[in-house]
Amino acid sequence: MRASTYPLVDAAEAAALVLDRTPVLPVEAVHLAECTGRALAEDLVSAVDLPPFPASAVDGYAIRSADGGGRLRVVGESAAGRPFDGELEPGGAARILTGGVLPAGADSVVMVEDVEQGADWVAVPAGFPAGRNFHRPGDDLRRGDVVLPRGRPLGPAELGLAAALSLPTLRVHRRPRVALLSTGDELVEVGHTAGPGQVVDSNRWALLAALQEAGAAVTLLGVAPDRPGPLRDLVVDALREHDVLVTSGGVSVGTHDLVKPLLESLGEVHLGRVRLKPGKPFTFATLAEGRLAFGLPGFPVSSLVTFEVFVRPALRRMQGFAQVQRPALPVRLAYEARATADRTEYQRVSLTREGDELVARSTGSQSSSRLLSLAGAHALVRVPPGDGGLPAGSVVPALILSLPG
Ligand code: AMP
Ligand code: MG
Repeated sequence: MRASTYPLVDAAEAAALVLDRTPVLPVEAVHLAECTGRALAEDLVSAVDLPPFPASAVDGYAIRSADGGGRLRVVGESAAGRPFDGELEPGGAARILTGGVLPAGADSVVMVEDVEQGADWVAVPAGFPAGRNFHRPGDDLRRGDVVLPRGRPLGPAELGLAAALSLPTLRVHRRPRVALLSTGDELVEVGHTAGPGQVVDSNRWALLAALQEAGAAVTLLGVAPDRPGPLRDLVVDALREHDVLVTSGGVSVGTHDLVKPLLESLGEVHLGRVRLKPGKPFTFATLAEGRLAFGLPGFPVSSLVTFEVFVRPALRRMQGFAQVQRPALPVRLAYEARATADRTEYQRVSLTREGDELVARSTGSQSSSRLLSLAGAHALVRVPPGDGGLPAGSVVPALILSLPG
């Protein structure tokens, strides 16, 4: 084994370096059916008023308030999609249904519950005021309004709004095309029984889920053996059609750790060691044409924690999200979080709501091979390096992965 020549970089500095080197991907027009969870590439400005016409909010009668109420002649009907033809004359009322256009001449709607109806007449309360029970044009939004800002994730309400503005497609950043590769001679396919010294390739499936959640379009490259030739062939071939390469394993300093030298030969390695626990051997390189390569450590927890800290924010930046980081919320520690002397530690915690606080408890052994420490985790608590640690009872910000019910 040789000692790593890479300087140990502070975890926050390393995360900033990755983001600085991450390009935003080009924009494409995508149909609403495919937009869920993506980020708008430009502000969405309304070209229309909504609603576009005065629309009844109830079933009832459209009237002229100047008539003063009382008995009125029913002269027609305005239903949704079938407006009343013409102008409402004095002394007249038009039956109106929810969503129907308020007829010209009318200035109020009386709910059906508040009237008395005859064969061809209706009696409405005396002195019924103008302006009741209908939505005015532009009440919901006005032409020229910025309805949705650039970088906003598109969810049901945003997509409904775009459809209401009659936009079948939206401009969003392309999804990052990510090639995912596991490395290691010890790895066997899921579903197979691991023989002596073998390990099931679990990182592939964990990282696939993480990548998909982050919005990536993933190609599974499978497993590369610990031999430079085959590893290189797989990677070079994949890079032709992908924006990002994510590997796991093969980045520490053992003789079989081939990822760093490979990335050195293909581009520029910016990070080879980070003051982070778990995840010290995390490797980051930029390759030709704005491509990125992330060499994640092999230990399952290390690969997912470095994904959270470095890869997920980068993938979100590529897609133009205004917010690339997980939200941070204050949590009260129910345990003493011991620090690691020379590395920032991301400890996995579960959360409970106690009063109006979120209380954090360790998920147990924080071993980098113990996926259970992450499977039950709601949040990551960042413990700065040093010998201080964070005392039980202190309130610190935590990166929220999910919130307890
Ligand atoms: P490495 O970083 O290649 O030295 O691997 C460190 C540890 O992580 C070893 O115990 C590996 O067996 C384990 N490991 C590496 N890759 C994977 C993987 N794809 N799935 C599960 N465990 C892995
Ligand atoms: Mg290995």
